[in-house]
Amino acid sequence: MKEALIEITLEQMLQVREERVKIQNEILEKTNSILITFTMNIPGPIKNNKGIEQSFIYGKRDLIEYMKDYLIKEIQCRKLASGGEAYLVIDKQFSAKEIKSKIIEFEETHPIGRWFDIDVKSAPNRNISRAELGIKPRKCFLCNEDAKVCGRSRRHSIEELYKFTNEKIQAYVASQSRNSIKTA
Ligand SMILES: [Zn+2]
Repeated sequence: MKEALIEITLEQMLQVREERVKIQNEILEKTNSILITFTMNIPGPIKNNKGIEQSFIYGKRDLIEYMKDYLIKEIQCRKLASGGEAYLVIDKQFSAKEIKSKIIEFEETHPIGRWFDIDVKSAPNRNISRAELGIKPRKCFLCNEDAKVCGRSRRHSIEELYKFTNEKIQAYVASQSRNSIKTA
């Protein structure tokens, strides 16, 4: 049976992002912690399919493992047509900048880290940026230029970006399922 794929409009995506900020702010107000938000950044209108969903689950597993020394107090998840969202609440004994640099290290070393979108917030609407840590902007996964420049100039077609993304994600998911069979 062919998988039913849902296309997400720009308006829906903006609404999802708005809801996300609301959830982040509520958690930050309630817990007075540092908040990590993990989502995937998939080019094009189809934000979720079986491979993307599975790679989100593996990515979340790896993120939790990577951050295990930082006292994760609470984890909340949402499963949406626009993709999964995971909220990790971290104790404030660690500095938000230290956590952000650890997250950047994770994004840059994970096999599909280029499709991870991980925010670190230290208070409502207070996002820690790569720039304030003196770290260069993220690179485009196709040509290694500044990803924002490629996005603005529409250097690559959505079809090209989506195809490349799914090839990488499917290869990663296959490698992980092989590993879990081996270790089972
Ligand atoms: Zn590019």
